[in-house]
Amino acid sequence: MTQNATLLIKATIALNRYFGYPSFRDGQQKAVESLLARRDTLAIMPTGAGKSLAYQVPALVFDGLTVVVSPLISLMKDQVDALEESGVTAAFLNSSLTAKEAAERLTGVKRGKYKLLYIAPERLETEGLRALLQDVPISFVAVDEAHCVSQWGHDFRPSYGAIAPFIQSLPVRPLIGAFTATATEEVKADIIRLLGLENPKVLVTGFDRPNLSFSVLRGENKQDYVLSYVEAHSAQSGIIYAATRKEVDKLTEILAGHGVLVTKYHAGLPDQERNEGQEGFIHDRKPVMVATNAFGMGIDKPDVRYVIHYNMPKNMESYYQEAGRAGRDGDPAECLLLYGAADVQLQKYLIEHSVSDPQQKQKELRKLLQMVDYCHTDRCLRQAILQYFGEENVPDTCASCSNCTDERESVDVTLDAQKILSCVYRMRERFGVVLVADVLKGANTKKIREMGFDSLSTYGIMHDCPTQAIKDRINYLIAEEYLHLAGGEYPVVKLTPKSAPVLKGEVKVWQKITSKPLRATKDAPGLFEKLRRLRLEIAQREGLPPYIIFADRTLREMAERCPLNRNDLIRINGVGELKREKYGEVFLEVIHKFLRERDVSGGTSPHSL
Ligand code: ADP
Ligand code: MG
Repeated sequence: MTQNATLLIKATIALNRYFGYPSFRDGQQKAVESLLARRDTLAIMPTGAGKSLAYQVPALVFDGLTVVVSPLISLMKDQVDALEESGVTAAFLNSSLTAKEAAERLTGVKRGKYKLLYIAPERLETEGLRALLQDVPISFVAVDEAHCVSQWGHDFRPSYGAIAPFIQSLPVRPLIGAFTATATEEVKADIIRLLGLENPKVLVTGFDRPNLSFSVLRGENKQDYVLSYVEAHSAQSGIIYAATRKEVDKLTEILAGHGVLVTKYHAGLPDQERNEGQEGFIHDRKPVMVATNAFGMGIDKPDVRYVIHYNMPKNMESYYQEAGRAGRDGDPAECLLLYGAADVQLQKYLIEHSVSDPQQKQKELRKLLQMVDYCHTDRCLRQAILQYFGEENVPDTCASCSNCTDERESVDVTLDAQKILSCVYRMRERFGVVLVADVLKGANTKKIREMGFDSLSTYGIMHDCPTQAIKDRINYLIAEEYLHLAGGEYPVVKLTPKSAPVLKGEVKVWQKITSKPLRATKDAPGLFEKLRRLRLEIAQREGLPPYIIFADRTLREMAERCPLNRNDLIRINGVGELKREKYGEVFLEVIHKFLRERDVSGGTSPHSL
């Protein structure tokens, strides 16, 4: 057997023993093999592909210490907690430690106590640390989120510039591995050059995230939709992105008012409140997070089951990055985008006011239009995304996005459309959605009387429709471009070239009616829920996020396969040796109790593994 094959077997055994997984995933295995062959490696893998294990497992096989450079304190802590829980010795050095703590860890490093040492890039600049690491055998340096080294990336960190000089200062050049999800050519070239990779193996795993299903909903009543969605998925963790702080505040309040366990995050909140919100979310105390796009970098919570965009983001890159925070664990997860035409106005406004360079402005406006196209396409959404990112040979259908699975009924709404278009025409295309809806409703307001709108033939023509429903219908017509929103801060509704044929009765308007997500039924909790509850108790006692104890998928597998003893248990994905020792007994107890109760109530008997 070749040496490489032997090493791969060793790595797979470590994967199994510490992390409880039987095999590497495809892209992961290639990266691991390349590293085990001691070739510098740049691995470009999408979010959730499993980059961490791609360097952590080789670290376990190599002699000596592996240094991991990672940009965020919260990430480091999370990873080190997860490693320790799995029985791997690891530590981190960053500005969150006191001088005494840092000194203790350094002593540990010198004594060879750790297999992995996570270091913040700023630390690498300090002379003292460099001197100390001189006589520590460092065999491998893994750079996570390696795109941070590039000015072209979206999260440039000048301190990543300290990595290459640090490596040069070492007496023996270690193996270097760089990991990122960003694949643009500029970023790739920068990583290789600025980190000083030598003859690197560059591995690119496809962008597809098969476990994510994508949906776009146009002209919905967003608030109602989100509320019913969240209530129907109350046991699950989800993120709702809104465009502005004000919108985040409002939506959080509404959800909280309906008893949803919700928290929020945006740049306008005091540090402490933001941190508390984030912690509450990570630890599953508040499963729903409402946030602006300020939230997410460095959140590796693997069991986010849905990401809803309450507003359309500014481009496809932002969208895929934010939506991609769903389903890192590989289990099915939903990404929903609630399109409203006002979102386009807002994004245009933001670009106009934040980008000064005319060329850059044009570029961003073009990207915005591509985002709008995505919201209107009737092609497969997964295909649209992957082709946007330059992937080739993408299948025409995915059988999971809202376009591939659309079975909604189309309803003829031509009559309503004619009433609305005609009213907009009669109001001379100079007013916003709210006033148009009021006139159609026949509201008796001072403004309407003063403007004389109460004498229009369309006044009150939709009086038997709730005002909100009229507004929703108008928004639908805008989303489908039968109407157009114009102007900045106070947009007014105007007709479009598509309006006249409708008014003349030449074209019919159809609307697909979305059925609201079903509200959750309150059945007795199944085994999965019971296991989750136990996990939450343990997590709270240990002050760890629940997913560090066991992944959702691990609990689901336990609930399906009902392991009855320690041997059965170790065969469940995600149960490594240390975790079996620490938690096996209590989880087995819950399973046995569940089965006993079920047998008493006349269920079938379990099949063993
Ligand atoms: P990335 O950094 O690429 O976004 P992570 O390293 O955070 O992804 O891994 C995402 C999830 O995938 C984690 O929950 C991890 O435990 C899981 N995972 C990684 N490798 C495997 C594997 N070989 N088998 C099963 N699950 C895996
Ligand atoms: Mg990662």
